[in-house]
Amino acid sequence: MIFEIKNDEKKIFDLVSENARELGYPAYVVGGYVRDRLLGRQTKDLDIVCVGNGIRLAQAVATCLRPVPRVTVYQRFGTAMLRYRGIEIEFVGARKESYRHDSRKPAVEEGSLEDDQNRRDFTINALAVSLNAEDFGSIVDSFGGLKHLEEKIIKTPLEPGRTFSDDPLRMMRAVRFSTQLDFEIEPETLKAISLFRNRINIVSRERIITELNKIILSDQPSKGFKILYDTGLLKLIFPEMAGLQGVEVKNGIGHKDNFYHTLEVLENLSKNTDNLWLRWSAIMHDIAKPATKRFQPKIGWTFHGHEALGAAMVPRVFKKLCLPLDHKMKYVQKLVRLHLRPISLTKENITDSAIRRLLFDAGDDIDDLMLLCQADITSKNAQKVKRYLNNYELVKQRLIEVEEKDHIRNWQPPISGEIIMETFGISPSRQVGDIKNAIREAILDGVIDNDYQAAFDYMLKKGKEFGLEVEQGS
Ligand code: ATP
Ligand code: MG
Repeated sequence: MIFEIKNDEKKIFDLVSENARELGYPAYVVGGYVRDRLLGRQTKDLDIVCVGNGIRLAQAVATCLRPVPRVTVYQRFGTAMLRYRGIEIEFVGARKESYRHDSRKPAVEEGSLEDDQNRRDFTINALAVSLNAEDFGSIVDSFGGLKHLEEKIIKTPLEPGRTFSDDPLRMMRAVRFSTQLDFEIEPETLKAISLFRNRINIVSRERIITELNKIILSDQPSKGFKILYDTGLLKLIFPEMAGLQGVEVKNGIGHKDNFYHTLEVLENLSKNTDNLWLRWSAIMHDIAKPATKRFQPKIGWTFHGHEALGAAMVPRVFKKLCLPLDHKMKYVQKLVRLHLRPISLTKENITDSAIRRLLFDAGDDIDDLMLLCQADITSKNAQKVKRYLNNYELVKQRLIEVEEKDHIRNWQPPISGEIIMETFGISPSRQVGDIKNAIREAILDGVIDNDYQAAFDYMLKKGKEFGLEVEQGS
């Protein structure tokens, strides 16, 4: 079969072809680029394999381009990279790899194209397009990758146990490609993942989380999580999430399965956002349910405080998974902590002050919080879902009205600690904080207006209660 070369690829393919011929190296386009082009997906990086020295080929190609791009050489891996018109082109010499059992660092030797294809993870990633004069543009398909693209199958080129044992990250990649492309993992390959799952423990957490985040960012992340759960990988890489699975029944009363519920929430949310961290907050929102679960004979199952404990678990989980411990983590923590608040506002007779408090606590993340809460409605009863969604629309309307009136989002109380200290001639202390809080609470509760003069008068009143005197001249 011939690969249809597009106009914008032709120049670079020809250039690699000519330089490879001059050096006497057979050369091929391989891997994800070929796969994605055949699937009509957006292509990213371009990988070139040559039977020869990849670094020399990259340098030769670079000298023919204008302006001449910088070639980044990775001596240790025998690869070189250059950037051309916004794409990264990576050059590597064909190689054979063998792995030691206790490490994923391979011993690398030069090899043939076939050796190189053998060491690739899946048949659909092992397709090559020839850049050689005699068969330029023809597809080399040693393992039935074309058929598997057609049949939407993820399968390893060699015996799966060997492929996974050589580099266990490939198990995560199988799940990732299955999720991203909506392909099925071939049964023997899937069985091997279950069988070799413990090997994932030798893979670095950074590599694992990169794949997990790709699963989370795909159109149907729940597909990947179900496979991770069913193969036993999830329990190894993210036990807190696997621990959500299961239903306990007491006195004939059960509760919902929090794992499948979480996946439904993630799925609902993913229809409305590509924000990775908002998606993470869906994954984490009920994470503390197992730890807070109680059975109360008159009420049934309760999970009191799971939002607070869940928020407290976020840093630990993020650290273990090698996720960032910065404002992104804080954002997830905040959404987990607040995820029950909007529902409490769907009752009747909600005061403006309750709405103001939520606006103050959520700040700019209020819209994301509302998206999360709406996704959290997973009843099977369509009538119920409709009614709940309707209630949320009302809350949203109130949020808009109160915000327009009071501007609480991003709001800072009008009296600062400095003003308090100056007025009463006191130094930083607990009292300053107490007065500041009292002013904030009074405004949020609607006891006083949200303006400087009202807040100043209230400060004087509070100061007096605390036995403070106004400093002369202030
Ligand atoms: P994407 O770029 O969308 O993540 P990709 O398939 O291009 O997908 P890369 O990590 O860019 O993935 O790797 C390029 C190619 O290198 C793959 O298509 C595959 O042939 C090979 N490859 C990458 N990682 C592995 C691995 N762990 N084991 C075997 N082959 C791999
Ligand atoms: Mg790639």
